[in-house]
Amino acid sequence: MTVNSAVNGAVGDALGGDPPGGAKARQARELLQRERQTHIAELELLAGQSAPDEAVMARRATLESNLEEIDAALVRLDEGTYGLCEDCRKPVPEGRLEIIPYARRCVKCQQRRR
Ligand SMILES: [Zn+2]
Repeated sequence: MTVNSAVNGAVGDALGGDPPGGAKARQARELLQRERQTHIAELELLAGQSAPDEAVMARRATLESNLEEIDAALVRLDEGTYGLCEDCRKPVPEGRLEIIPYARRCVKCQQRRR
């Protein structure tokens, strides 16, 4: 996917093991912070509704729990464990992190939890 991972095979395609100040970690942090802002903006928008219906309430709950996940992901970035699956400790594929930057687990482990 990236030129870097092709050249430096040892690193692979995942973020796992990158130092907190590394380029990929910085990229992930920017992505998470952007995601955080859009979540907060949408929450504020929804909070302005005087009579929220069920769909709005559900959306708010989703946004709030996503926000918690985003914050937790930012903590993992600081700790240097971001991008590692919480269960098997293997790197979460980069493609998955692009879709869900706050993913805690690889697809396999996540499916096992359902
Ligand atoms: Zn896993």
